[in-house]
Amino acid sequence: MKNETSYDAIVVGSGMTGGWAAKELTEKGLKTLVLEAGRPIVPEQDYVEHVPPWEMKFRGLGDRVTARDNQPIQSRCYAWDELTSKFFVSDKENPYTTDPSKPFWWIRGRQVGGRSIVWGRQTYRWSDLDFEANLHDAIAIDWPIRYLDIAPWYDYVEEFIGISGEALGLPQLPDSKFLPPMQLNCAETVVRDAMAKHFGGDRVLTIGRAAILTKDHGGRLACHYCGPCERGCITRSYFSSLNATLPAAEKTGRMTLRPHSVVHSVIFDPRTRRASGVRVIDAVARAALEFRARIIFLCASALESVRILLNSSTPEFPNGLANSSGELGHNLMDHIKAGGARGTISGNENRTMIGRRPNGIYVPRFRNVKTRQAEFIRGYGFEGGANQQGWQRGIAQAGFGPEFKKSLRQPGPWQFTFLGYGECLPNHNNYVELDKEKVDAYGIPVVKIHCAWGENEIALRKDMSIAAAEMLAASGARNIEPFVHDYPPGFSIHEMGTARMGRDPKTSVLNSFNQVHDIKNLFITDGGAMTSSSCVNPSLTYMALTARACDYAVEQLKKGEL
Ligand SMILES: Cc1cc2nc3c(=O)[nH]c(=O)nc-3n(C[C@H](O)[C@H](O)[C@H](O)COP(=O)(O)OP(=O)(O)OC[C@H]3O[C@@H](n4cnc5c(N)ncnc54)[C@H](O)[C@@H]3O)c2cc1C
Ligand code: SF4
Repeated sequence: MKNETSYDAIVVGSGMTGGWAAKELTEKGLKTLVLEAGRPIVPEQDYVEHVPPWEMKFRGLGDRVTARDNQPIQSRCYAWDELTSKFFVSDKENPYTTDPSKPFWWIRGRQVGGRSIVWGRQTYRWSDLDFEANLHDAIAIDWPIRYLDIAPWYDYVEEFIGISGEALGLPQLPDSKFLPPMQLNCAETVVRDAMAKHFGGDRVLTIGRAAILTKDHGGRLACHYCGPCERGCITRSYFSSLNATLPAAEKTGRMTLRPHSVVHSVIFDPRTRRASGVRVIDAVARAALEFRARIIFLCASALESVRILLNSSTPEFPNGLANSSGELGHNLMDHIKAGGARGTISGNENRTMIGRRPNGIYVPRFRNVKTRQAEFIRGYGFEGGANQQGWQRGIAQAGFGPEFKKSLRQPGPWQFTFLGYGECLPNHNNYVELDKEKVDAYGIPVVKIHCAWGENEIALRKDMSIAAAEMLAASGARNIEPFVHDYPPGFSIHEMGTARMGRDPKTSVLNSFNQVHDIKNLFITDGGAMTSSSCVNPSLTYMALTARACDYAVEQLKKGEL
């Protein structure tokens, strides 16, 4: 079966970046088709953040058989549980392969909303320390943009999203347009004050900057601290494409959102040297379809957009569409995480927290900011926070009988954890290609991922545990336990860099406006576009780049350039 329908724009993917492309393009007057591989999500039925454990079949412990058979990779993610498992892909239906000696844990969501439903909502701006890093270190290629190019677009998306946080005036972590910050708890305040005293302002602890509303904003309600945001949010208090950008696009009357539409490849017209449309497999009818548009935005995530292009080879682009540079699929990065430390903060035993604050602390990067480290370049930031131990401590503690049970009803001591997220260097040898031996449930060739940490990332991770232990010691913590978890790439869920931006078409896939050098009406605005990785969570930057690229594309379209 073949069906041809024409639009002004096609957006592939409806997650974090696809939602922004849909909103911007429709609001600028374009009739836009949003193609989403996964199923539709209806918040009133699918959001489950208020379901208590006793109403869950497995009491919140999760269905271990499903996890083992269907989601062996996804179920490793901290946000995967009995209720959220439906927001993660089936590893069985959506396989990928890796070098046997180089595992990569690829965590994905395949539904309307993508991973924006389950994300951790941490939102940080990049600075010129990041945009100038490659040039400074003579690594890979230079970014074609600087902070001033993106700053107005950070303002723009933040004003819509609503970001709570505290302004610090730090050059390495520019302030956002903030809603009021959430509060630190008493143990976090102890650590913050001790750090200020011991580290002379070099290491700063602040509340996480989060895409969660602390007051009503843009028709969405302030957060009521119920806790498990990754299960959805019926008050739409945290930002997701489903909660915010897709409804805005829908309101224009110009969006057609088509779930169950797996984009197989992009159609290239060699006469016009333009992308004329996309080939789609209808996941329900199992039928092949084609859709046409004047501009195409790939927002399917860093690895999926590249997979689409690798599956779109033509005689002119035998190694993948838009790949005249040979860089498509290369320079894959993810943040290296999980060096850190935990300890007990004495005092405040008689105080407790009210509600479940859906946010932690943040310590902005302090390495290689004012001074230089001999062991590594770039740096890392810490997430984490303090929690009072609950009744579960009884599992590790010896005891029995009524008195023991009664004692567990009282909150335990305050435990503090620092967990580092470090920058990953771009490396041509970390790449994805098509695995021609294996296909997914729709018969589409899957990707084979080749990715490993380099020496710099390993050195950063080691330093995280040392610096975290120092900060806990400076705070008077007891029982300090430094740790280094050896997670493979992918597990920070910040994969990026596979279609990097640059000035030179010979060494990059995209120009400074996320426009494919080779094909002017094709744009990639997901994490694929990143030329380096910074150490901060990347989604805010993807969203700002998407809004900027839409503005540019529509301007070019009006000028008749596309
Ligand atoms: C548990 C978790 C916590 C996270 N925490 C944070 C955080 O705190 N801060 C942060 O910045 N980032 C965080 N992230 C990462 C963040 O979710 C991603 O960076 C972001 O969602 C990427 O946006 P995207 O639009 O590229 O991809 P996605 O949001 O994944 O959306 C891609 C969409 O494309 C669809 N798609 C894929 N292939 C096709 C195809 N062939 N045809 C049609 N549609 C397709 C998918 O189904 C999906 O809906 C977290 C992620 C997870 C899972
Ligand atoms: S904690 Fe806040 S943002 Fe999270 S689900 Fe509850 S109300 Fe929504």
